[in-house]
Amino acid sequence: MIDFELSPEQRKLQLDARAFAKTHLTDLRSKMVGLDAAGRFEVTKAAYEAAVKAGYLKLQVPPPLGGTMNSLVDVAIVAEELIAVESSLPLSVLSTGLGLMGLLFFGTPQQYEKFLPQFVSGEGAPLAGLSFSEPDGTANYHNTDPSKGFKTEAKLDGDEWVINGRKIWTPHAAGWGGNKADLLAVAARVDKGKSPQEGLSMFLVPGNTPGVIIEENIEAVGQPGAVCCIVRYENVRVPKENILGEVGMGIMIAETAFTATAGLVGIMAVGVARKAFGIALEFARTQTRGGSVPIIQHQNVATILSDMKAKIEAARYLTWKACWNFDRSMGQSQELSIMNKVFSSELMVGVITDAMRVVGVESYRQHTGLMELLQDAMVYPLFDGGNVGVRRLQLQRILSAEGYDPMAAAEAQF
Ligand SMILES: Cc1cc2nc3c(=O)[nH]c(=O)nc-3n(C[C@H](O)[C@H](O)[C@H](O)COP(=O)(O)OP(=O)(O)OC[C@H]3O[C@@H](n4cnc5c(N)ncnc54)[C@H](O)[C@@H]3O)c2cc1C
Repeated sequence: MIDFELSPEQRKLQLDARAFAKTHLTDLRSKMVGLDAAGRFEVTKAAYEAAVKAGYLKLQVPPPLGGTMNSLVDVAIVAEELIAVESSLPLSVLSTGLGLMGLLFFGTPQQYEKFLPQFVSGEGAPLAGLSFSEPDGTANYHNTDPSKGFKTEAKLDGDEWVINGRKIWTPHAAGWGGNKADLLAVAARVDKGKSPQEGLSMFLVPGNTPGVIIEENIEAVGQPGAVCCIVRYENVRVPKENILGEVGMGIMIAETAFTATAGLVGIMAVGVARKAFGIALEFARTQTRGGSVPIIQHQNVATILSDMKAKIEAARYLTWKACWNFDRSMGQSQELSIMNKVFSSELMVGVITDAMRVVGVESYRQHTGLMELLQDAMVYPLFDGGNVGVRRLQLQRILSAEGYDPMAAAEAQF
């Protein structure tokens, strides 16, 4: 039997998140106007603290490690409610979850003890980030030619790893007030003579380690409250035991983390599209545009709206199934997550342009907010592994693998 009814606990999470968003996120964006990236990020601090207090960081950590995460579906339910009001603060909260993901899946008890407590305390505004992407390109991180791909390097010197290189799009690495993020998970090659499959690793680096240098807070075109940075690692020394897993497990760690986020990107896109749908529906029900009836009474307008709604519903349920598969397979089943990331992110960008078609030329003015939502939504196909350069190649690998079973993901046979 398939049951789409939320459990009482999930319904509570959903309603609490809806109320949280109304209280803490409704006016957030208006306070960012005219500020630079660092200033806009700073505006979100109180809301981030409130999100931590509400348990939204803990919700991304499993109970044995001090968190409250029962399933990725729960995270998706909360994320949709928050993002349907404001997308950039939830992006920071989820980016911290992504920064912790390698630790959660591949950490040792000693690493948990050292790095996790602040993230599950429910206090303050702790920040973690995955420092994976590089300025010269990220799509070919798995290139087997050792002379290509990632350039950041980690060399063992006595009891310490020494990291050198540059990363781009590392979320909130500069931290609150420029005091650096609490924890960065940095991907680096331990031996440039070896392919990344043998030599890419992930390292836990406290942001305040000497040599972590913020070169730039990136001015992006959307998601104004979520700042990403260009970071230079200059002779950054961390203890030998700060490596995650074994040498050479970097790709596996990154892909496990990116499988979880692929499920969630679908719901991020749904959140933004839901907001656009609300704006278009309200406009269509209230505006006559000089005619005799509200424009929703014109069948072509109503058709666009009902198509938008159907796409949002479809993306939501695909996301839930992808997250459910992730839980059931302990992150091993990648296909549905990645398909969801590609399919839902692109479909939801289309929903926002549909909303603009409903509203017409008024949508080209800033006050409707639709152009801003389009700029926010455009990140979903592009980041978290671009759909063209990363995600569709992953799908190609899955579909062309020996023994691929086209029904396995649908039937949850892992
Ligand atoms: C808001 C935001 C948040 C982000 N958060 C993080 C984060 O938390 N951590 C992090 O490390 N990064 C983060 N990023 C960076 C981002 O996830 C990656 O840099 C991005 O996904 C890389 O994808 P890409 O395909 O554009 O890569 P690129 O390497 O820049 O590729 C560019 C283009 O080249 C083409 N291409 C390249 N190689 C191939 C190939 N082999 N086959 C086919 N086409 C190819 C494709 O058309 C591709 O679109 C973030 C970015 C943004 C904007």
